[in-house]
Amino acid sequence: MSGSRGSDTRAKAYDVIFFDLDGTLHLSGEPFPGLVDFINETAGVHGTTFVAVTNNTSMPPAQYQKKLIKMGLLPDAFQLCSPLSVLAAASVEDISRNIFALATQDVTAFLTEHGYETSNKRPNAVLATFDVEVDYTKLTAACNHLTAGAKLYSTHVDIRCPTASGFIPDCGALTHLLESVTSTKMDKDFGKPSDQMATYLRQKYLGADKRAVIVGDRLYTDIALGHAMGIDSVLVLSGEARSDDPGLEAGRRPTFVHESFLTFLKAAYAPNESAPSVRSYAAV
Ligand SMILES: [Mg+2]
Repeated sequence: MSGSRGSDTRAKAYDVIFFDLDGTLHLSGEPFPGLVDFINETAGVHGTTFVAVTNNTSMPPAQYQKKLIKMGLLPDAFQLCSPLSVLAAASVEDISRNIFALATQDVTAFLTEHGYETSNKRPNAVLATFDVEVDYTKLTAACNHLTAGAKLYSTHVDIRCPTASGFIPDCGALTHLLESVTSTKMDKDFGKPSDQMATYLRQKYLGADKRAVIVGDRLYTDIALGHAMGIDSVLVLSGEARSDDPGLEAGRRPTFVHESFLTFLKAAYAPNESAPSVRSYAAV
């Protein structure tokens, strides 16, 4: 329990709170009790900027934003960023805009709207996404383009996506399939915890004097992104990671560990009713 007082004091100073969705805000689409209301109030009263950062590229960011609003988040209380936001930014460099998109129809339309040529004719790159409409025709076309010399981009490297009925193949699995069939290596990705995502978030949300934290349930995406950005991180135990996770003792540690996103927020904004942090690495 050591360090909980220190975490309270530090947490109050954050101007921007980046947060993960599945396992952090909600579990299989069901928000954790009390959390949505607390975020709405905190954003309104304290002026904190909340930014949902998801690797989900099965739909355009605006569509995903609507899902969160349906869960009860107020439209003004948060912003949303996915690897597609990074790809849509004018600042993204060193990538070809002539691509074959292994993507849903909506995501392909989003990319076209943001300056990508997505025809199937001699693309310079194949972009793998979380294409939940994938079929053999598209996979064959992607392989043919890669064999002809196109680069391989991937929105993110997550192998599997958790659902209520178990894991399903995510973008990383599709990427591995394309790599193994065509002996191609992925050139770059744009999701958590890539440098591309870290740079985008820093440029968009962090001025020189802004203090930020990232909250999430995965060490190798959420906490790793915190390290890539050079900001504090909070590992929550409401999703994938456990308090005895070997990753906590080896490699890159989070700044704090909390039972949930809500216990972290209460420690920061309502310390009288908060539970102490499970562990704090602030003094380490
Ligand atoms: Mg998660």
